[in-house]
Amino acid sequence: MSNWRQHGRDLINALLPQSCLLCGGHSHASALCLPCRATLPRLDTQHCPSCALPTPNGQICGSCLKDPPHFDATQASYRYAFPLAQLLQNYKYSQRLIIGALFEDTLHTGLPADAVIAVPSTPGHLRERGFNPALELARPLAKKLGIPLLLDACTRPNDAPAQASLPWKERHKNIRNAFACHADLSGRRIIVVDDVMTTGATLNELARTLKRHGAVHVENRVVARALKD
Ligand SMILES: [Zn+2]
Ligand SMILES: [Zn+2]
Repeated sequence: MSNWRQHGRDLINALLPQSCLLCGGHSHASALCLPCRATLPRLDTQHCPSCALPTPNGQICGSCLKDPPHFDATQASYRYAFPLAQLLQNYKYSQRLIIGALFEDTLHTGLPADAVIAVPSTPGHLRERGFNPALELARPLAKKLGIPLLLDACTRPNDAPAQASLPWKERHKNIRNAFACHADLSGRRIIVVDDVMTTGATLNELARTLKRHGAVHVENRVVARALKD
């Protein structure tokens, strides 16, 4: 999204009194009022450090042990469940940056890194949505951490079938070689930002690509983690 459009939206958000998107109550300049925000489904504090799935004592989970992912760590604050899932869908499809802003600070915690990368959108999604929701989350994070946001380091050249349209089992195959990387990341520790981690297949493939280009450590920071039922 161009800067002037973003600034325009920020200005409008600042001038209009905001109603909470969940209860309609007064929420100052935020998308949610404080009580509604407190009801969002938090992720269990005990979870796999690698993929963020809940484990009894916060140990590494069975599937990461058996088949270690290419990324090294994942930070997530919420479970991808009602009403957070609906909020994030609304964010993706309506460009309501005020919803993204709600989650900015949830991405602040994690390991030190050298640069931030947003999971690239497919060309089709960019056309359809007009913006990359992950990028709008990554931008303020990079600023807050004082490290570069690598805007053009990675692209997603083709419109493979959307991951969300496929069964979990097929997503690994579909995403293979989806990303192109144009940067030398030798020795660099990278934070990868996305809104939701579902199976982890997309983030795993991106981490594989980043490591092939020299990254030594990849940490995912996502707003929400989908759990298998
Ligand atoms: Zn509310
Ligand atoms: Zn795991």
